[in-house]
Amino acid sequence: MPIRTWAKWFGRRPSGVPASRRSLRVGIPKVLNLWSTHQFWWGFFTALGIDPAHLVFSSDTSEEQGRQFGKGRGTVDCCYPVKCVTGHYGELLAGARRPIDVLFSPMIYSLPSFLRGHVADNLACPRVMAAPENVKAGFLREGDGFAARGVRHVAPLVALAEPRIVPRQLHAALADVVEGLTLEETRRAVEAGYRALEAFNAALRARSREILATCARADRPCLLVLARPYHLDPGIGHEIEVDLQAYGYPVLWGQYLPLDEDLLDWMFGAEVRAGVIRSPLDISDVWPSSYSANTNEILWGAKFAARMPWVACVVRLSSYECGMDQPTYTPVQQIVERSGTLFFAFQELDATKPAGSVKIRVETIAHYLERAAGAIIARKKAAMGPGCPLLAAQAA
Ligand code: SF4
Repeated sequence: MPIRTWAKWFGRRPSGVPASRRSLRVGIPKVLNLWSTHQFWWGFFTALGIDPAHLVFSSDTSEEQGRQFGKGRGTVDCCYPVKCVTGHYGELLAGARRPIDVLFSPMIYSLPSFLRGHVADNLACPRVMAAPENVKAGFLREGDGFAARGVRHVAPLVALAEPRIVPRQLHAALADVVEGLTLEETRRAVEAGYRALEAFNAALRARSREILATCARADRPCLLVLARPYHLDPGIGHEIEVDLQAYGYPVLWGQYLPLDEDLLDWMFGAEVRAGVIRSPLDISDVWPSSYSANTNEILWGAKFAARMPWVACVVRLSSYECGMDQPTYTPVQQIVERSGTLFFAFQELDATKPAGSVKIRVETIAHYLERAAGAIIARKKAAMGPGCPLLAAQAA
């Protein structure tokens, strides 16, 4: 799956912009769960009439960004992705990309996960929720770094898993920033945000299905990356999947797997009918404490990989000092490996891409895939039985 589309994700320019708010410049740190909700924010702000040219996302994370814009601003010892937020704030405040009037950094409390309704809750990691306030403190220590640059810091708590309360949360935060903003207008903009996000996610899921169908027809393997959404950031995930793609293996991301009914019924239907799980998206059989949205999606992705014959290998990414990922290492690995699927983990990723060891491990993965993918696919196909909808067009 070609994934190098980030410039498009963060750079799309819809039309129909009201004139009254054209001059307001909004900076948004491209960090953490912004990587899975960016289209919501784009749809929301442009629906409010903010000029698309005035929506400024920070750059991808890099060591240089942290050194130049975040040095000396750290406040808490934390996991690597949260530590990096400081550099994004500094870059936006410095106007390094374009000048801004507002630094908008939502404290995302919950996420609009595709597993909503099938799990206990859809919460964001507490470190993600608290990051805006923690990072802001680093820019207030020696005087108000926001006021000094004429920038307002707006960091509303937003429960994106609960669309009904989001308009009130955002209206309260933005009413005195966006001139003349009404609750009704905010409600319409929130709806536009969800529509944009759903359309984007649906397009990527359709693309993932196409890739799986291509692999199924040719009986060739693909890889699945199981990670947090922000491992898509080249400075957080170090583009390890890109190195693997260079060997010719298509790469899927766990957040964008196909959810079509026919496919899920083929994969999970027997377990649903046997009462093992309540629905194809139920993960209570492997992860009863399903409160964290991103963790839930990683566990479901592992189940998907275990059942999908052409996913011959899973690559797990996690960051330095991630307390949320630690309890999931063993269950995810066991789910994947018990199906005979190859499993490789890159853990404790931080600022430095361990280029040498990544190269060796990528070569190792490619070697194992070359040797074992055919047998893995055959074994998994036999376990799943006939009727795969990915092959339906071929059979017809
Ligand atoms: S999930 Fe892990 S890496 Fe992400 S913010 Fe929480 S602790 Fe940090």
